[in-house]
Amino acid sequence: MDFLNTGCTIFQGIGVTNSKAYGKIRFLDTVINYDNNKQIGSVGEERARFLSAVEETIKSTREIAERAKSTIGESEAQIFEIHAMLLEDEDFIDSVLLEIDSGASSEKAVLKSGEKYSSILRSLGDEYLSARATDIKDICMGIIDTLQAKNKKSNQNDEQYILVANDLTPTQTVKLDKSKILGFVTFDGSPSSHTAILARAMSIPAVVAVGKIPNEYDGSLALLDGVRGKITINPDENDVLEFKKERERENKIVLEHERYLRSIMHRPAVTKSGQKILIYANIGDGDEVEGALSNGAEGIGLLRSEFMYLSRQNAPSEEELFLAYKSIASKMQGKRVVIRTLDIGADKQIPYFNLDKEENPALGYRGIRICLDRKEIFKGQIRAILRASAYGRISIMIPMISTLDEVLKCKGLIEECKKELSSKNIDFDSKIELGIMIETPASAIISDILAKEVDFFSVGTNDLTQYTYAVDRQNARVSHICEENNVAIMRLIKMSADAIHQNGGWIGVCGEMAADLSLTQEFVNIGIDEVSVSPPYLLGVRGKVCACK
Ligand code: PEP
Ligand code: MG
Repeated sequence: MDFLNTGCTIFQGIGVTNSKAYGKIRFLDTVINYDNNKQIGSVGEERARFLSAVEETIKSTREIAERAKSTIGESEAQIFEIHAMLLEDEDFIDSVLLEIDSGASSEKAVLKSGEKYSSILRSLGDEYLSARATDIKDICMGIIDTLQAKNKKSNQNDEQYILVANDLTPTQTVKLDKSKILGFVTFDGSPSSHTAILARAMSIPAVVAVGKIPNEYDGSLALLDGVRGKITINPDENDVLEFKKERERENKIVLEHERYLRSIMHRPAVTKSGQKILIYANIGDGDEVEGALSNGAEGIGLLRSEFMYLSRQNAPSEEELFLAYKSIASKMQGKRVVIRTLDIGADKQIPYFNLDKEENPALGYRGIRICLDRKEIFKGQIRAILRASAYGRISIMIPMISTLDEVLKCKGLIEECKKELSSKNIDFDSKIELGIMIETPASAIISDILAKEVDFFSVGTNDLTQYTYAVDRQNARVSHICEENNVAIMRLIKMSADAIHQNGGWIGVCGEMAADLSLTQEFVNIGIDEVSVSPPYLLGVRGKVCACK
């Protein structure tokens, strides 16, 4: 390792996990857009590479259009037909080929031509043509995805790295090969952004809100300290040695504590005064079930079902969803699995839903608000959940509820789905539990009314915090407000707990606050029945509950 060119540079941000890493940093662009600056071979080969990617993209777009007709409806599916037609546009193809002839890689050429065409369309001042500019962008990304999927093999590199990005959307994070990531650093972001949640779920260090790190550092060695919230680029030899010693010391302490926690892993989590709390896991897909079970999860308290919709070109079919849910329910062997219905919008954007850009996406069209409009998508998911409920103990949970009307509409649609399945003699659990997330102050304030309609509540403290304190969960500048204050949110949780208990239901907490051990005693005092946390936090929370009064 070369320590001669010392002169380290430190970037300070906010640490979101209690761990550290050492390794090369890589910028998101270089990770996702493999070698997109270089031509693969001769100009002729690069032309062929581009043309074959276009052909493949047209084929897959037409297939998507066909499938979309049955999943999202004829008129919404038309957009994919338009994309396929745009992909065949000769002027666009010629423009890309011209760029390739002058030395650009296919990816660069597609981006450049796409930008040129988009800005021409936007400059015409016609609303319809401006909207086509977005389509051009989408099809360019489609071609680039195809080019890179083909290219991935030749770019495989097993080296792990610390990922540096402006910010990471959930869609970008699901595209990453997580086994290679040692840690995350984001210029923006906040401790309750989905990047931070993912880092905690992966038990890797993350530092957010460090400000801009210049691209020239791509490939440099760095120390990432998730505890102190800093990244040291090109550290000197002493720093690295000290870091390694410190990590060894910490690992020893952690291992010892973990040994104790593992010894109580299969005991129920009961406080000293005899109050039992269920310890459940938050997961994004079936791959995480094993980690949940091996850390003592007594159930799944939150399956963020939208993760199965991200990083795809089209919505999963009812059958695909059914098989995924069935497999999770079977693996959980009778333990409860709470499936949260699709919660997209805000920071979780799915291109094929073609949602409009909004001024305030967190306050806009998201979660159940979208599902109640796109009923076919929602019902397809509900039918898949119901069908899977014949193979395990599944509960349905609706996100982002703020009114009674939303709950009643959801119940109506669930009833319709049950009737549809019954008429076809398809099995499902007719007594399937229904719950809602308490994520808006409105839902907590009317929890006495909502509690009469459902079996359980689960408090999504990440959103409940942002809406209660008016603190954007992506904005690190204001995140300290809710880190330093929790009286308001605790009152809302208590109100909700009292309301659901009076109606014979139960209440869980599944936001990040559930893993904050300094709050466990308070949750116990409030009467929380279940806490749901990322798998790496399960042992710690169980240990803490057992130590509570
Ligand atoms: C929450 O808001 O606390 C929650 C669990 O949902 P998400 O973080 O996915 O928005
Ligand atoms: Mg939420």
